[in-house]
Amino acid sequence: MSEGVRAACVVGWPVKHSRSPLIHGFWIKQHGLNAAYRSEEIAPEAFADFIAHLPERGYVGANITIPHKEAALALSEPDDRARAVGASNTLWYDNGRLASTNTDVEGFTANLDDALPGWEQRVEEAVVLGAGGSARGVIYGLIERGIGRINVVNRTPERAEALRARFGETIHPAHEAALPRLLGRAGLMVNTTSLGMTGQPPLPIDLGPLPHYALVADLVYAPLETPLLAAARARGLATADGLGMLLHQAVRGFQLWFGVRPEVTAELRAVVETDLVK
Ligand code: NAP
Repeated sequence: MSEGVRAACVVGWPVKHSRSPLIHGFWIKQHGLNAAYRSEEIAPEAFADFIAHLPERGYVGANITIPHKEAALALSEPDDRARAVGASNTLWYDNGRLASTNTDVEGFTANLDDALPGWEQRVEEAVVLGAGGSARGVIYGLIERGIGRINVVNRTPERAEALRARFGETIHPAHEAALPRLLGRAGLMVNTTSLGMTGQPPLPIDLGPLPHYALVADLVYAPLETPLLAAARARGLATADGLGMLLHQAVRGFQLWFGVRPEVTAELRAVVETDLVK
């Protein structure tokens, strides 16, 4: 490694799918930094050792992706967000201790801020579809922004119930049959399921009952415009797409490792969009 280069990496297994090197590489070049960002494909049995020796490997920090996010939480000193979500995706050194956070939370809310500034002032109730890993980050973000009632609908009802046990009474697990009624009073609907992804069926939902001021967010980013977002736009609703969240979640790590707060610009978006449709 060249002298003086600050380096970070994304650690996954596999890691080829990750767009993080493209995003951070764009910002490193844009800011003319003497820095590097690499991919590290590390098997689960080697992860703890890898993380324990990040500095010896030349790294000032790391992003963590599937399947290591829960292990990263256990091997670091997580902040409240990571602890609440139950997974860490960003590691850095804070006065010699390995700290971690979960930036999906701010990625999600910052993307909504971009799509519809002041959204939280008009959202009293939200509907979250899905109760997997990403739903936890979304829900924590909504609670942080003061949303008073979050209705969660999931194919496996027990997972929605588990979210109420984790996050408290703001969470209201509900059956799919209640959706038309719940959508009728929702200022925000978020898809956190994998439905609508390339190769998956579309989300079977009628957006008709949503109020005209509602915001629709989809975490799925391949395709960029999911059938859900297309239907929301056709109805004239505001939308926030999964790529926006992906880009915004990367900001904090870059700032922590390299000392510059980068921006999510149309130019960055275009670079990643081009890569996604390759
Ligand atoms: P996960 O933990 O595996 O959860 C998947 C969720 O989808 C569960 O609620 C699951 O329901 C539901 N689901 C899957 N197949 C279904 C089907 N056929 N019918 C109904 N529900 C179904 O996955 P995740 O980590 O939360 O990720 C979910 C999506 O978000 C993925 O597309 C991922 O790429 C995307 N994501 C995007 C970002 C971003 O930055 N934009 C960040 C994180 C995730 P059950 O509980 O019933 O299985």
